[in-house]
Amino acid sequence: MEHAPNFLASLVIGLAAAFAFGLAARALRLPPLVGYLVAGVAIGPHTPGMTIDGEFTRTMAEAGVGLLLFGVGLHFQPRDLLAVWRVAVPGAMAQVAIGTLLGAALGMTLPGLGFGPALVFGLALAIASTAVATRALEERGHLSGEAARIALGWLVLQDLLVVLGLVLVPAASGGQESGLLAAVLLALVKLAAFAGIMLVVGRRVLPWALRQVARSGSRELFTLAVVVVALGVAFEAASLFGVSFALGAFFAGAILGESDLGHQAAAETLPLQRIFAAIFFVSVGMLLDPFRVLDAPVTSVLALLVVLVGTGGATFALLVALRVAPATAAVVAAALAQVGEFSFVLMELAIGQGILPEALRGPILMGSFGAILLMPLTFRALTALAARLPGRAPPAEDGRSRLLAQLPRMEGHAILVGYGRVGVLVAAALRRHNLPLIVVEDDRHRSEVLGRQAVPVLWGNATQAEMLEAAHISRARLLIVTLPLAWEARRVVELARAANPGIEVAVRAHHDSEVEWLNAQDSTGLAVMGEREVALGIADFAMQRMGVATSTAQATVDVLRKRRVADAAVAGLGV
Ligand code: AMP
Repeated sequence: MEHAPNFLASLVIGLAAAFAFGLAARALRLPPLVGYLVAGVAIGPHTPGMTIDGEFTRTMAEAGVGLLLFGVGLHFQPRDLLAVWRVAVPGAMAQVAIGTLLGAALGMTLPGLGFGPALVFGLALAIASTAVATRALEERGHLSGEAARIALGWLVLQDLLVVLGLVLVPAASGGQESGLLAAVLLALVKLAAFAGIMLVVGRRVLPWALRQVARSGSRELFTLAVVVVALGVAFEAASLFGVSFALGAFFAGAILGESDLGHQAAAETLPLQRIFAAIFFVSVGMLLDPFRVLDAPVTSVLALLVVLVGTGGATFALLVALRVAPATAAVVAAALAQVGEFSFVLMELAIGQGILPEALRGPILMGSFGAILLMPLTFRALTALAARLPGRAPPAEDGRSRLLAQLPRMEGHAILVGYGRVGVLVAAALRRHNLPLIVVEDDRHRSEVLGRQAVPVLWGNATQAEMLEAAHISRARLLIVTLPLAWEARRVVELARAANPGIEVAVRAHHDSEVEWLNAQDSTGLAVMGEREVALGIADFAMQRMGVATSTAQATVDVLRKRRVADAAVAGLGV
């Protein structure tokens, strides 16, 4: 209890600083994560002024990396890894070897550092941060393309290598070679056991359990269940199998991502991921001692160069050599040209074991910090370089590209939002003519029924951009919104327009003001006010039953259809 106020203050100050510096970064046209890092420096222990609780922040940051990687896993289909296997496996191995050797060469120039420790130093400079890379890709809209698949495959491999590194370092400091081999074997067996259990048991049990929670109809419990799965699996992975917390979370995400729950799980956890990721970057900033960096300026700058060349440059060259389109290679390489959380973990472990001197903390942190700060430039430089290469065509989405396992690739299709009383009929009409359609429906039962009829359906709340993206909004021709709530319908239309400005829209409305809002939008569309159509149907029937001729009744209906309800109420009929 004694710590409670301190923790609370740390949380509030940490988030407030992240927000303030994030806003400032945005004003300077830098990515917000640069702001988060600077916020960390500002409220860290190495700068004067306020300091927040480092231990607490680190714990939160670890949860943040877990959630972030869970989110990455959700987007990442095991199939995707298989699709980029040919490129990612040899590429990542070669890149880590090149980066490690470059870093080791730098390490060897430092007084008193032997080859073994220099290799550890090199490895710390050769491993990119998945958290940073995915944020960078996301900020630039690359999270669902070919580049992201390659980058994620690459990062998974790097993570596996780091897991081995983390096992090797303490074993190596023990000094016995037989112990070393046994430690590596044990780590590999544990990793395989974890992966095996996840693939055989987790893959069946986790989606099943979450589906049960979803059926219970409680949104709140579903969100909670998703977070419990993410962090719970990660924790088990770390404590029972010695796999990193982050990699465990990634596995949990990948397994759910394969099921039809993935998009809803992603949408539910996104805000949480954002908040925790901000804390993660603040915690990284807190590690940096700006005054110590100046102690070894040359080594620090060289470490930064090793990161840029050994990871960024090497990745780009290897990808191009592996016949990946230069434009894609540039995006992947720029996203990877940095170091982050795993390097810090490795570094702290090695320093703790006395393998690396404390003085190397500065250069490693500087390499990390500098590379992340330089990222916008790295992207620009590599993209410019790619443009100069005798290029193959830019990476068109090829046959393998899929956003979703369960949705066929669609183009020029209609997206129907809501499959209730209105949506059912609209869908029936479109299906009767075999028109391409994706349905987004929030109710689990309804979406399951549709799924059983082999209609492409996404279960989840359409007011989240994630869902529309998954329905390939950017390639759709028509959006049909049949939601009963006006503000939800409006939000869906706004999100859709942001993703696809030219899309035609048909919306169900309940008030004239909603119809007017849609008509005021500068895009083609149709707003149908449900109550008006009900009224007109009844009025038509009533007029004819009372003796009005069919054609006259129809003329009255046509006039009324154009009139605001409020005006009709005030002016009476007057037709
Ligand atoms: P009805 O009013 O009978 O046409 O039903 C509306 C349908 O829209 C129901 O099936 C709801 O489950 C569904 N729905 C409501 N809100 C959302 C939402 N935000 N995203 C997706 N579907 C929704």
